[in-house]
Amino acid sequence: MRISTNAIRYRKLTTIVASLTLILSVQAFANGPAGSKHDDAAKFRQLGHELPTPNVYRNASGAPGVDYWQQQADYKINVTLDEDKKQIVASESITYTNNSPDTLKYLWVQLDQNRFDDGSIARMSETASAAGTRRDKAGKGDSLSYNALRRIQAFDDTEHGHTITSVLSAKGKPLHYVINDTMMRIDLPVPLAPKARTQFSIDWQFNIINEAAVGGRGGYEHFPKTDTYLYFLAQWFPRMASYTDYTGWQHKQFLGRGEFTLEFGDYDVNITVPSDHIVSSTGVLQNPTKVLTPLQRQRLSEASTTNQVFVVTPEEALENEADKATGTKTWHFKAKNVRDFSFASSRKFIWDAKLHEQDSKEVPVVTAMSFYPNEAEPIWSKYSTNAVVHTMDVYSRFSFPYPYPVSQSVNTWERGGMEYPMITYNGYRPTADEETGEVTYSRGIKHSLIGVIIHEVGHNYFPMVVNSDERQWTWMDEGLNSFLEYLAEYEWDKNFNILGGQTNPLDVITSYMQSSNQVPIMTQSDSIVQFGPNAYSKPASSLIVLRETIMGRELFDHAFKEYAQRWMFKRPTPSDFFRTMEDASGVDLDWFWRGWYFGTDYVDVGITGMREYTIADQDPDVEKDKERQDYWHDNPKPITEIRNKDEGRKTYVERNKSLEDLYYEKDKFTVTNKDRNSHKSFLKGLNVWQREVYDRAVKDGYYIYFVDFENVGGLVTPLPLTFHFKNGDTEEMMIPAEIWRLNSKHVTKLIIREHPIASIDLDNAHQTADADFADNSFPAKISQSRLEIYKGKRSSRNLMADMLVELENESKDEPGEADGKEVPLKATDTAPAGEE
Ligand SMILES: [Zn+2]
Repeated sequence: MRISTNAIRYRKLTTIVASLTLILSVQAFANGPAGSKHDDAAKFRQLGHELPTPNVYRNASGAPGVDYWQQQADYKINVTLDEDKKQIVASESITYTNNSPDTLKYLWVQLDQNRFDDGSIARMSETASAAGTRRDKAGKGDSLSYNALRRIQAFDDTEHGHTITSVLSAKGKPLHYVINDTMMRIDLPVPLAPKARTQFSIDWQFNIINEAAVGGRGGYEHFPKTDTYLYFLAQWFPRMASYTDYTGWQHKQFLGRGEFTLEFGDYDVNITVPSDHIVSSTGVLQNPTKVLTPLQRQRLSEASTTNQVFVVTPEEALENEADKATGTKTWHFKAKNVRDFSFASSRKFIWDAKLHEQDSKEVPVVTAMSFYPNEAEPIWSKYSTNAVVHTMDVYSRFSFPYPYPVSQSVNTWERGGMEYPMITYNGYRPTADEETGEVTYSRGIKHSLIGVIIHEVGHNYFPMVVNSDERQWTWMDEGLNSFLEYLAEYEWDKNFNILGGQTNPLDVITSYMQSSNQVPIMTQSDSIVQFGPNAYSKPASSLIVLRETIMGRELFDHAFKEYAQRWMFKRPTPSDFFRTMEDASGVDLDWFWRGWYFGTDYVDVGITGMREYTIADQDPDVEKDKERQDYWHDNPKPITEIRNKDEGRKTYVERNKSLEDLYYEKDKFTVTNKDRNSHKSFLKGLNVWQREVYDRAVKDGYYIYFVDFENVGGLVTPLPLTFHFKNGDTEEMMIPAEIWRLNSKHVTKLIIREHPIASIDLDNAHQTADADFADNSFPAKISQSRLEIYKGKRSSRNLMADMLVELENESKDEPGEADGKEVPLKATDTAPAGEE
């Protein structure tokens, strides 16, 4: 706690002041030499070598260049889900169009399932602490969680990775191919010329991972109580690697985190599953009469913007999962202009639907749908599809109308989420009481469910349509998407728990930004140390600051929409985003990108001093008396003199009156005619404009303040100030970040007002991500908090009492569903001794 009693010192300006310009020059001198130090200027240096040189593919304004190109990959796939073997058996025909100016001798294809192979780079390079699943860490230090051990057992039980059974040319001739971990190179018998097209086919199969055990973006989930399954297939087919103007083939291996960089194309997919399964998939169902009952089709047609319908009711889903069909059905889907394709299948699915109308000629109506097991009820039928509709509503306002005919949310796991075109996998379910069976859900689960659906459906915009390179720059989709997610959450319900706790992400991000464990946002995905804050919440927070504090909503929203629309169905890089935001707004943001995206400084500015002055009248008959008062205010009588007087001690002169002279009566502030003449000649010496300035200043009675700011965190930032005047008025003032351009550590701001200021606050609204508010007010405020009286606890073992405790009923200790409360199998199970 820090209490400052050093309130504003009221000090009158006593020196002879020729004009206001003299005060200003004194101030500049007090602030230190005005030359720019290297690192100060560096914070505002324009981004140069950090960004690629503009070219014909992507221009200097951040837009696609005149010769912008991208490849196209169209797929025809037949896939069978073998439920008994938990296996995918499939074949595909890929038509690849080379729109690049280059001749290609070979093509690279991604085999993402190979990441789960025993010898994969991902698995072999795993460290002990990273040996858990995507959502459950292995544990710290020498520990092994149940979760990590289950994963190792699952890998022991089943072989994973793609088994490629054939790679053939369009004419049916085998093509030479080489598999390098998660990438496969297919050598073309004849090089593929620019503007040419080639076709080839691949047959493959793989064992589906047990997602809860292994951890991945797709797999199956087993429900032990009913012995039923739910399947969601992601990264399940050999997909064309991207070939781009900025990196050639993007074939950096899939290590599990850096996601996907893909080409747009059209998909025609036949999915064969057990006949009692319901399938949710990317694309539009082509054969509803073959796979849906007349009743299901009728219900689907009854969905409207206000009417959410069950296509499969919870009761029907319960009946479905009670027994198991023996036959199969083939669901036929087509999707146009998507970058990926995913599907989910289960006999457990409840299915609901609602329509979303939007202002778009191409897609005026979108069917929003949700698929979930009974275990997800009642929270899913209430919120999921509504959250899908709300997401499209908000995101489209900031970017472009949702471009596809369907948008789906599928409950596939307990928590977390994952996105694919038109289909998203989302976690969070209510809890059923072990004994009573009563189903409840917490506020946290509700907000997490709505939050994850908004987030994953939001990915349909970034990166499913604005197709950034996820393997390289995670922030481009996760950061932008998290930013819009927050905006949609604020518009969903008041007091929404963004980031699972607080309502202001800017107050959450500060602890990460102050930590020593940081890398710049502009770091390749797999090399990021703290993934969540680096790729999600820091860039998202930066965009809130940019919108609300730096650019303002009008300039920001226009520029952000311009970026989304320029790069819709195209492939932007970071420089395209940075440049477009400047290009469309006319705001120089190089310092902002440099600080927030290329650096690891944090925001923390303190107000370290504030001095008040009034204009000296300079008439000695007025001023000298004030000077006297000021002098004795600043120089109280010495304590010895005071105590001497208290003791009744008289000075020598007091005891000898004859020694008194002029100086006994007149102090140094006594006005003389010399002073008066000097004042007259001072006034005469002023030229006409100086006299006008002087008279006006004296008449108006300005209060002049010099306010000192210290940049503790290093990141340059605007300064939103609130002045509290003594008369009760307040005033807001936004000082732009450019105030730091010549000195990024200390600046002094001159503020002149007609009324006296009582105090100043910095960033009252918490809109800059300032890490420490203890130094944001002048005079400093007493920090207020509540203290609970702490009662020391001593834990010691009472063997006599413990021996009397009866053995608990066995059933109480049955292993339950792990809910993030993993019990570590530690090297030592000795609990720390009772601590106080
Ligand atoms: Zn995401």
